[in-house]
Amino acid sequence: MVTRPVRVGGAVIGGDAFTVVAGPCAIESRGQFMTVGRHVRDEGAAVLRGGIFKMRTDPHSFQGLGPEALAYADEVRRATGLPFVVEVAAIEQVDVLAPHADALQVGSRNMHNYYLLKELGRTRIPVLLKRGFAAELREWLLAAEYVAAGGNESIVLCERGIRTFEPEMRNTLDLAGAVWARQHSPFPVLVDPSHATGRPELVTPMCLAAAAAGLDGVMVEVHHDNAAALSDGFQALTLEGFSRLTRALRSILGALGRPLSSPVEEGFSPAG
Ligand code: PEP
Ligand code: MN
Repeated sequence: MVTRPVRVGGAVIGGDAFTVVAGPCAIESRGQFMTVGRHVRDEGAAVLRGGIFKMRTDPHSFQGLGPEALAYADEVRRATGLPFVVEVAAIEQVDVLAPHADALQVGSRNMHNYYLLKELGRTRIPVLLKRGFAAELREWLLAAEYVAAGGNESIVLCERGIRTFEPEMRNTLDLAGAVWARQHSPFPVLVDPSHATGRPELVTPMCLAAAAAGLDGVMVEVHHDNAAALSDGFQALTLEGFSRLTRALRSILGALGRPLSSPVEEGFSPAG
C-alpha cells in the first residue's frame, strides 16, 4: 500500500527521508530538556519527544511534571526549531497539550482507549499511535481506523515491542510486524527500540535494522545523565550514544540512497 506522508510541524514522516524522533522519556526540568533537545537537534533528530503526563506502571513512581512542563516544552521547541510530540494520556489532556505540540502520542497502554482515539479523530493534530504491548497487528490498524474515521488521517504508527515469554528484554521488538503494518496500511511506521528492548546497547542495532527494512523512522529515548533520570534512565541513550546512532544511521541510509529527515522540509517556510 502506498504510504501517506504525515506533516509534523515542519518535518515530514513517511516521505523518502528517515525520521529520528528523540528526547528524554519525561521532561524533568528546563535545563534537562534544553540540554537533551539541543543535542539531538544538532546530531540529526527531526522531531523532539518528552513526556509531560506519564503512564507509569507503579503509581508511586514519577508521574511527569504535568502542566509545569508546558513552558519548558514551548521554550525548547522554540530554541531548537524542532517539532514536538508528547503523549496524551486522557481525553481531558487533549486541549491542554495540543497548543504546545505538533503531534500527540497515544501510548501503548491507551491504544485500546477508543474514546480517546475518537476524540483525537475530531481534531486535526497529527497522532502518533503506539501499538498496545498485547495488541494484534489487526487490532492496531483498527485503532488507527478509530482516529481516521473521525476525519483525522494524519496518523503515524509506532511499534514499541510486545510482551512475549522472553525475559531478557523489556519487550520483544516485532520488526516483521512493523513492516507488515506498513504494507497493510497507508500510514508511516516508526519503531521504538528503547521501550521494545529496554537495553541501550540494542537500540542502535534495531534502529539500523528498521532503516534497512524500509521503515519510516525511529523513536529513541536520550538522557544526558541516565543515573539521575526520573524515568526509564536504564534504557536511554547517552548524548554520545545518540551521536553514534545518527552517524551509523547516516552510513546505512547513504547506502540505501535515503536521507535523514530534517526538521524543516525543503521549501517549507513556517507561517508567522
Ligand atoms: C513513551 O514513549 O513515553 C511511552 C510511555 O511509551 P509506551 O507507551 O510505548 O510504553
Ligand atoms: Mn519511557
